[in-house]
Amino acid sequence: MVTTDFYQKTKQTLAAFGDEKFFRGSHFFYNTNIVLQEVPNEISICFNISGCQLNCPGCSWRNIDMQPKELSREFYLEILDKNVGLASCVVFMGGEWKRNELIWLLESARERGYKTCLYTGQNSITLDLLRLLDYIKMGPWRSQKGGLTQKTTNQVFFKLEQITHLFQKKGE
Ligand code: SF4
Repeated sequence: MVTTDFYQKTKQTLAAFGDEKFFRGSHFFYNTNIVLQEVPNEISICFNISGCQLNCPGCSWRNIDMQPKELSREFYLEILDKNVGLASCVVFMGGEWKRNELIWLLESARERGYKTCLYTGQNSITLDLLRLLDYIKMGPWRSQKGGLTQKTTNQVFFKLEQITHLFQKKGE
């Protein structure tokens, strides 16, 4: 039996990255394009997801005059399949994240041989997302601190390497 305590703990864990009610459904996005600088040494397919709730002052998406469109799975896979061998990474920016859907998007990218990157204004992320990422940029936009090119920045960019398999014996 699942207890209230379990739900409470799960809710606390997830509070750092989206709310339970945002688990399901499609994302909406402004546009997608190929970018060269957002992930070092990667040619990336970038999806600019709408609806970020963090409201950082000065966010460039705040007053954008663009209508977000639904990011259907069919369209997403079409873009990925079209760029196999041309692009090396898929990066998501912005975002009112639907965690279950984001997991599916990341897994689908990995299945096609892409690396994955998430830009998030949050300072923490849950393990189920972390294990599907090769890169992550974290931290909200603070204009007085500047972005990644500034030494004063509050943001961090990690290259992630999972080495769990090194602890596992062959054939087990
Ligand atoms: S995290 Fe990024 S997208 Fe979200 S409000 Fe801040 S700057 Fe904008």
